Amino acid sequence: MRDQCIIAKLGESILRKKAKKVKNINSEKIQSVITKMITCVKMSRGVGLAAPQVFEPYQILIISSHPNDRYPNAPLMKNEVLINPEIIKKSKKKVKDWEGCLSIPGIRAKVPRYKKIEVKYTTVEGKTKKVIFEDFIARIFQHEYDHLIGKVYLDRVKDNIDIVSEELYFKLIS
Ligand SMILES: [Zn+2]
Repeated sequence: MRDQCIIAKLGESILRKKAKKVKNINSEKIQSVITKMITCVKMSRGVGLAAPQVFEPYQILIISSHPNDRYPNAPLMKNEVLINPEIIKKSKKKVKDWEGCLSIPGIRAKVPRYKKIEVKYTTVEGKTKKVIFEDFIARIFQHEYDHLIGKVYLDRVKDNIDIVSEELYFKLIS
């Protein structure tokens, strides 16, 4: 399984391309992409993952929030697979907080994100769902959604001074 979980690192062209809309959730290809993503998010202990990060150019992301050493205050929630997600409403308010990315190891940065968003997506069962995400979960969503439009969180950083090494980040939050 190990070699099935290679994470695309910054500089890979797939991270800068727009992902394709999923047309048939039940196709073998899409099912195998979802399985791979679930395995990878678990193995890498990430709180989220987007398909392009595992070299799959589809509009699929996973939110997998749980407290860990990188995000001790993360809420615990079941893995949610979001297919063809869209942001349909955004709060006026943005909040700056720490983010990191499996595709950009070794650094962390403070990133402004909408505090509250309403999103629409298709579930693995093929149902359309509308949900409101707030705070940390809204942040994960916006981070992963960026991967589907060819962006990474560093593109959203307001000032380079907000970027720190991971080593220092751990000192800052402890
Ligand atoms: Zn990322």
